[in-house]
Amino acid sequence: MLSIVVPALDEEENLVPLFDELAPILDDLGLPWELLFVDDGSRDETWSRVLQLGERDPRVRGLRLSRNFGHQYALLAGISRARGEAVVTMDADLQHPPRIVPQLVEEWRKGNRVVHTVRLHSQDESVFKRLTSRLFYSVFSFLSGSRLESGMADFRLLDRQAADGLLAFREEGLFLRGIVQWMGFPSSKVEFEARPRHTGNTSYSLGRMIKLMWAGVSSFSLVPLRLAVVLGLLTSLFAIEQGFEAIYRKVVLDVTVPGWTQTMV
Ligand code: UDP
Ligand code: MG
Repeated sequence: MLSIVVPALDEEENLVPLFDELAPILDDLGLPWELLFVDDGSRDETWSRVLQLGERDPRVRGLRLSRNFGHQYALLAGISRARGEAVVTMDADLQHPPRIVPQLVEEWRKGNRVVHTVRLHSQDESVFKRLTSRLFYSVFSFLSGSRLESGMADFRLLDRQAADGLLAFREEGLFLRGIVQWMGFPSSKVEFEARPRHTGNTSYSLGRMIKLMWAGVSSFSLVPLRLAVVLGLLTSLFAIEQGFEAIYRKVVLDVTVPGWTQTMV
């Protein structure tokens, strides 16, 4: 069985179009499949859409999180409940084109345990987004020593072994892209052209992107920690040197006003 895991936050207008596009493609694969929506604390009608779809087609399942946990945790929750021999994760807003799924399955059938996707940069993407995304991937790769490719998306196939491997992690500040790469299963990649969001707005603000970046860098690299230690040492050395200098000025040169030396030291 193939599981498709779709995290959704306030995607009421997107679930039915996604299902309508995805279901015939999945049927053509000739595999049993399930479509598992993870409602990540939506405040709109997302959950009732999931229930409606579930009535229309019993292969649709839903998982409703108690509150909003964020994209990465919603993905993990979905993967933990997926029953398939392979699990494909994709976004609910149709930015990840359903017609790529058969290519992922084909790569899986060739024996790959992980099939990544790489987003080709689309024209309608802002220059700012493109630059920051490039910057992030190169900084991350440099700091962590792992090869994250620019444009790697949370649209991928994990086979059962890779999914179970992922679930064995008890990470805070989850950065799935990094973990999947770190596990190192035989993998391949498929390129895709991202489409514009079907409806609604992105929930990844600049602030959230920076948070995700920091989660990625701080959990995969010792460089920030080492940098803090070195900076701390340098600051201490400077302070000690200044302390000695203050004493020298008082005792040897005798050029200070009363109290200054004590305060400085
Ligand atoms: N999402 C989620 N929880 C969140 C934020 C986003 O489950 O807290 C889902 C969202 O519904 C979508 C996917 O994660 O299916 C990617 O989010 P979005 O499209 O906002 O990000 P972008 O594609 O702009 O990076
Ligand atoms: Mg999106």
